[in-house]
Amino acid sequence: MIEKLKKHADVLENVALNKYNTYHIGGLTRYLVSPLSINDLVEVIKILDENKVPYFVLGNGSNVVLSSKKYEGAIIRLNNLNGIAIHPEMNMAYAEAGAMYPKLVNETIERGLTGLEFAGGIPGTIGGSILNNAGAYNACTMDYVRSVSVLNKETYEIEELENADISYTYRSTMFKEERKYIILSAKFFLKQGSKESSLEILADRQRRRLESQPLEYPSAGSVFRNPEGDAAWRLIDSCHLKGTRIGGAEVSEKHANFIINVDNATSDDVYELINLVHDTVLEKTTVDLIIEQEFIGWD
Ligand SMILES: Cc1cc2nc3c(=O)[nH]c(=O)nc-3n(C[C@H](O)[C@H](O)[C@H](O)COP(=O)(O)OP(=O)(O)OC[C@H]3O[C@@H](n4cnc5c(N)ncnc54)[C@H](O)[C@@H]3O)c2cc1C
Repeated sequence: MIEKLKKHADVLENVALNKYNTYHIGGLTRYLVSPLSINDLVEVIKILDENKVPYFVLGNGSNVVLSSKKYEGAIIRLNNLNGIAIHPEMNMAYAEAGAMYPKLVNETIERGLTGLEFAGGIPGTIGGSILNNAGAYNACTMDYVRSVSVLNKETYEIEELENADISYTYRSTMFKEERKYIILSAKFFLKQGSKESSLEILADRQRRRLESQPLEYPSAGSVFRNPEGDAAWRLIDSCHLKGTRIGGAEVSEKHANFIINVDNATSDDVYELINLVHDTVLEKTTVDLIIEQEFIGWD
């Protein structure tokens, strides 16, 4: 099987996943597979299915909590599918799923288009950010998506879904709920803007993030969703949880809804601390916080 895969992808075996997620935690994966093109990705999925090898598509690993248990399957990364094309004359941008969101934001601004400034500090890929409907400052990704090209995992067909065909809510989409598709690329609706004012907005947002978020430590951003009408960080802070530590994982002093890897944290440290925060907030405030990050490989 490996030889067949290598015709369509860069393949590594028994790879530690801590380099491939922003918490810098996690165990080994049996295979790490980076398809060379969209057509190669289709072939890779067929080969894995024929050989009954489970697989999981990982973006930049900036919204996941990977377990330390070995993944006996293939982690697929779309880092070779990272093309971006900007069409100012059509107010449109195109990006492949493995492209980094901040890179797309910068390129749209460079070409005089406005809309995606809110996403300049979201350290994910386009694929992961569409699946999560990533957002900030009251804007979200799906507000700007015109269409998404997907691979149907059951039929191996590539489908083009228009915005109206895609259901989505705060930090979620049907892609996340159904798990039927691999996101391949997307087209974004934008507007003509001024490069200067877009850069100002970007710099202002970056300054606000640097002031309020512990970006000097590995993390996966906000741990919990904000409950209706409140902020998760406020509830966590009201329970005096800032600075609480399990092993090398800590509730950030700077932003209570961030858990940071301060000293070689293990997956279990992060997992246990998330549960401790959740249970403490539930007990003291009766609010049942919903986790925004995704647990991968936990039973
Ligand atoms: C410092 C920091 C700040 C952050 N700020 C924000 C913020 O302001 N707003 C926000 O919304 N998020 C924020 N995040 C969280 C995270 O960056 C986003 O959720 C991001 O969109 C996740 O993208 P990713 O590529 O890292 O996805 P991953 O974490 O790799 O994967 C997330 C999910 O997407 C799936 N997936 C990835 N690619 C594909 C694909 N091509 N097809 C199908 N499924 C796929 C994975 O299987 C997984 O289920 C922040 C994170 C950090 C570390």
